[in-house]
Amino acid sequence: MSDSSASNDYQAIIDKDQSLLWHPYSSALEPSPVYPVGYAKGAKITLKDGRELIDGMSSWWSVIHGYNHPELNEAAKSQIDDFAHVMFGGFTHEPAVKLAEKLINFSPEGLTKVFLCDSGSVSVEVAMKMSLQYWRSQGKPQKHRLLSLRKGYHGDTFAAMSVCDPETGMHHIFADVLNKQIFSDSPTVGFDEAFTEDHIRDFKQQIETHAHELSAVILEPIVQGTGGMNFYSPQFLQAVRTLCDQHDVLLIADEIATGFARTGKMFACEHADVTPDILCLGKSLTGGYMTLAATLCTDKVAFGICSGEVPVFMHGPTFMANPLACAVALKNCEILERGEWKQQIQHINSIMKQELTPFETIDGVRDVRTLGAIGVVELEEPVTLHEVQDWFVSEGIWVRPFGRLVYIMPPFVISPEDLSVLCQKLGKVVEKICAHQTTKR
Ligand SMILES: *Cc1c(COP(=O)(O)O)cnc(C)c1O
Repeated sequence: MSDSSASNDYQAIIDKDQSLLWHPYSSALEPSPVYPVGYAKGAKITLKDGRELIDGMSSWWSVIHGYNHPELNEAAKSQIDDFAHVMFGGFTHEPAVKLAEKLINFSPEGLTKVFLCDSGSVSVEVAMKMSLQYWRSQGKPQKHRLLSLRKGYHGDTFAAMSVCDPETGMHHIFADVLNKQIFSDSPTVGFDEAFTEDHIRDFKQQIETHAHELSAVILEPIVQGTGGMNFYSPQFLQAVRTLCDQHDVLLIADEIATGFARTGKMFACEHADVTPDILCLGKSLTGGYMTLAATLCTDKVAFGICSGEVPVFMHGPTFMANPLACAVALKNCEILERGEWKQQIQHINSIMKQELTPFETIDGVRDVRTLGAIGVVELEEPVTLHEVQDWFVSEGIWVRPFGRLVYIMPPFVISPEDLSVLCQKLGKVVEKICAHQTTKR
């Protein structure tokens, strides 16, 4: 193929895409720029026109071991030759059983039952439904609302949306059809900051006021992701656990983003030594290979649900426990079990600290922070993604800011050299963004 036909191809894919497809949060009238991908390996994504990008996003937290991983590839190929799918009603299979065993072993002590479903949002729906059905079975159907934190993000389906931050979660558009949940202030105590009773005051007041109608508290432990990249103190989470116990309210930990080592512990709950009643996993569960999610719960929740008027848990998706996805997820767990992630994340964190911290002095940057393999440069003003996406691509890096947040969470396997380049180029683009914002002001 000649160079010119390759570039024709490239443009043809973009044109077709823009006339036919929706992208996340996209407009059909003014399509956002899209970049056709031809190949990806490790922490590098090669566009169809040959340009190579260093990946700063892990495809939204998920591709933790990098793209095109030989062992994950092999797990998928070997399972597909046996069977790609089989219904989970009445059948079972080794990939699901072995995966469940691993998840129970990995996760905080006390979680004993695994519900395997399709995506993060669905695992949140399942968790919410579990909490509601639990209280129904206990003869307390009035306990059906949830208490959530501002700046939280839990997915895009309707029940999940109802517990997202009321502003960024688009509550205003759907206010009339969403269930009305309770919200308390987002934690203001940083990960390393000293926790005081003041920090939990609003949450405490909300749970005291509403305990009689609350089935559960739902939160992202330690790191509020998409809703603000807010890192908060483990003591806040401990205080939440204590208050949930005191007021007879279940605790749902949404670790869809934080799970599988991203924050430097296998699960973010471990920073606080807390076991939730229900745990949601997704995103990196399959190492970013395909969609799969899990909702884990304790014996108390599982047996509590099934000892009620309706003796079964009322959920069962068509692709529940898809064997192909389970086989890859199992391999992901086996790779994590080897423990290389501990050193990988330490290295990533120290390089990010060193390379990103100087950007604090750029006029227009509000804050720079890191935790585990997450690095955040928070700006004073929101970024117009349309405008700046190409600036990152032109520098050879893949970074996708959200609002005021320019953040990276690279694959754990990224080399120190690539990570340094990623951070330096990111700084260069941030400088350009801030300079541009100043002239507009
Ligand atoms: C991404 C995310 C979800 C939703 O997962 P999907 O797979 O996109 O449905 C829910 N909760 C958190 C914390 C997430 O980061």
